[in-house]
Amino acid sequence: MSNRLRGWHLMFASVITRLCVLIIIILLASWSIYLNYKVGYNNARLVELADGKLVATFYRMSDWFFSCFGDPVAAMQSNGGMTWSIRLFGVQITDPIAATSVFLNNGQLAFGFFIGALIPLSLALLFGRVFCSYICPASLLFFTIGRLRRLLGRFFYFPELPMNRFFAWGVLCGGVVLALVTTHGIWALILPYFAVGQTIFHAITFGVMHVAVFSILFFIVVDFALGYQFTCRHICPTGRLLGVIGAKPLVSIRRDASACIDDCHSCEQVCTFMVSPKKDETRDCSLCGECMSVCPASCLSVGTKKAIDVSSSGIVVNTDVASEV
Ligand code: SF4
Ligand code: SF4
Ligand code: SF4
Repeated sequence: MSNRLRGWHLMFASVITRLCVLIIIILLASWSIYLNYKVGYNNARLVELADGKLVATFYRMSDWFFSCFGDPVAAMQSNGGMTWSIRLFGVQITDPIAATSVFLNNGQLAFGFFIGALIPLSLALLFGRVFCSYICPASLLFFTIGRLRRLLGRFFYFPELPMNRFFAWGVLCGGVVLALVTTHGIWALILPYFAVGQTIFHAITFGVMHVAVFSILFFIVVDFALGYQFTCRHICPTGRLLGVIGAKPLVSIRRDASACIDDCHSCEQVCTFMVSPKKDETRDCSLCGECMSVCPASCLSVGTKKAIDVSSSGIVVNTDVASEV
C-alpha cells in the first residue's frame, strides 16, 4: 500500500473517531436522562406514558445495554461527566487545563482527577497533538469550515491575518486568571471543544442553549474572517499546549529525504497546524495524514524515530529514518 493511500486512511480514521466522540458526548447526555427515568420510574411502560414511544425505546435500549454490565444504575453511574472530565466505564479522562484551573482555584486535586489528566498528556507524549485530529469534538467543525474556505476561496477573497505563536499562550494565561477570579466554568467560553461539549450537553439534558453557543459562533466567524483554521492555529490554548508537550513524540510523520522533491512544498501547504514535514518538523503534528495524502513522491510515512543512520561512506544521510507502524 502506498504512503499516499495510508494518508487517506488516516484522514478517514480521524473523521470517524471524531464522529464517535461526538456520539459519545450525545450518549452521555442522553444517558443522564435515562438515569433519571430509571431512578424515577424504573418501568418502560411508565416512561412511554410520560414521554412517548421514542423515549421509551431509548430507555429500553439503554436498560438492555447497561444490564450487560450488571446493575444498570451502577453501570450508568460509572459513565458521565462533561467535556472537561468524562468517566467512561469507570475510567476518568480529564482536560489538563481544567484540572490545573480547579487546582489553582481550590488548592486541591482529587487523585482520580489527576490520573485522568495524565491520559491526554501521555497521549501527547507518545503521538503528539493527536487529540486535535482524532478526539477534539470541535475540530470537525473547524475542519469543515477550513474546507469550505478553501472551496469558496476559488471565487472569493478570504483574509489571512498573520499571528504570533505566543497569542495562544496569552489566551491560556488570561483564561487562568479569569478562572481564578470567576470559576473554572469560564473555560466553556474559552476552549472551543469545551464550548461544543457544553452546548450539546445542555441542549439534550436541559433542552436549553448554553451561553457557550455564542462562543462557538464567535470561533466560526473568526475562522471565516481571520484565517484558515485560525482558532486551532492561533487561539486554542489546548492545541498550543499539546503541541509543545508532544513536540518530540515517539511516533510521528517521517520523511525519506532521499526521495523528497526539492522544489515541492505540498506537505507544508496543506498542513492544518503549519507543520513542515519537508523540514522534518514534528512539533504540532496531529498525525492527520493529510500531508501523506498529497506527497507526490510518497516519501512521508508514520513511524518511530530510529538511531542516526550513517551511510557506508560515513556521511549522515538522514537523521529521522522512517520506521513504519
Ligand atoms: S486546537 Fe483546540 S479546538 Fe482545535 S482541534 Fe486542537 S483542541 Fe480542538
Ligand atoms: S504534518 Fe501536518 S498534515 Fe502532516 S500529519 Fe502532521 S498535522 Fe497532518
Ligand atoms: S510533499 Fe513530499 S516531496 Fe513534497 S516537499 Fe513534502 S515530503 Fe517532499
